[in-house]
Amino acid sequence: RNQPLAGRVAVVTGASSGIGEASAEHLAALGAKVAVLARRTERLDDLVARVGRNGGTALALATDVTDTAQVHAAADRVRSQLGSADLLFNNAGVMLPAPIEELRVDQWKRQIDLNISGLMNVIGEFVPQLVESAGERGVADLINTASIAAQNIFPNFAVYSGTKAFVTHFSRTLRTELGAKNVRVAAIEPGIVGTELQGHVTDQGALEWLAGSKETMEWLTPQDIAETIGFIASMPPRVNLQQVTIMPTGQA
Ligand code: NDP
Repeated sequence: RNQPLAGRVAVVTGASSGIGEASAEHLAALGAKVAVLARRTERLDDLVARVGRNGGTALALATDVTDTAQVHAAADRVRSQLGSADLLFNNAGVMLPAPIEELRVDQWKRQIDLNISGLMNVIGEFVPQLVESAGERGVADLINTASIAAQNIFPNFAVYSGTKAFVTHFSRTLRTELGAKNVRVAAIEPGIVGTELQGHVTDQGALEWLAGSKETMEWLTPQDIAETIGFIASMPPRVNLQQVTIMPTGQA
């Protein structure tokens, strides 16, 4: 079978469900060895077993990406067990919309800690490996998961949208530093994808909006995003697909 990512070492965060899980499985099917990071160990172990049954290689690394020491330990294990990472899909995130006047400070903090600080912790620990791999193999990929919320306006999503606007703008800016070192930087901005993401929402208005949207459109699947990630990483080394907005056809 066609394995454009044979010989590559991928790291996927948020790999225990949804977009990250599907992407890890797909990258492994394309030939990459894949380190899978998230907090739920059992889910990661199941994923690793499934990848193995399909002839691939995966390594489960139970990691809370908001904890710098845990991310540091994960990066050490990737380097020693799989070799230097040359593909990082920095994807863990949480979405907790609510009207600002409800002052859900706990939820603001969870989103900022994971979607911004967690993403940065992973960058800090893995960029040296990406740069090293790019020097040795000619190219490496850093793909960050933003959201259509980084571009479009959704009432009550101000904090989440702010964190995702950070991811998009950060990615565009970082490209100018890392591109010269053969590390491609991309941001993917999906519209609604059916995952566990919606299951963490507590705000009644947002829950109703989500339920209504499901009746008027067909949501994207995690596999749709996984295939896009595989496509970005399989482009010739000269090509950096910088930003991808991928929407359900029926989502305005
Ligand atoms: P899921 O809730 O299914 O996946 C989120 C993943 O993040 C899980 O694997 C979870 O694993 C992991 N995670 C949560 N907290 C931590 C943590 N502290 N440390 C490490 N991992 C953590 O949702 P999606 O797959 O939808 O979300 C993936 C990304 O896609 C997010 O960044 C989200 O914002 C973005 N996105 C999603 C859209 C959608 O409609 N679904 C649309 C646009 C963007 P565990 O709990 O085991 O740690």
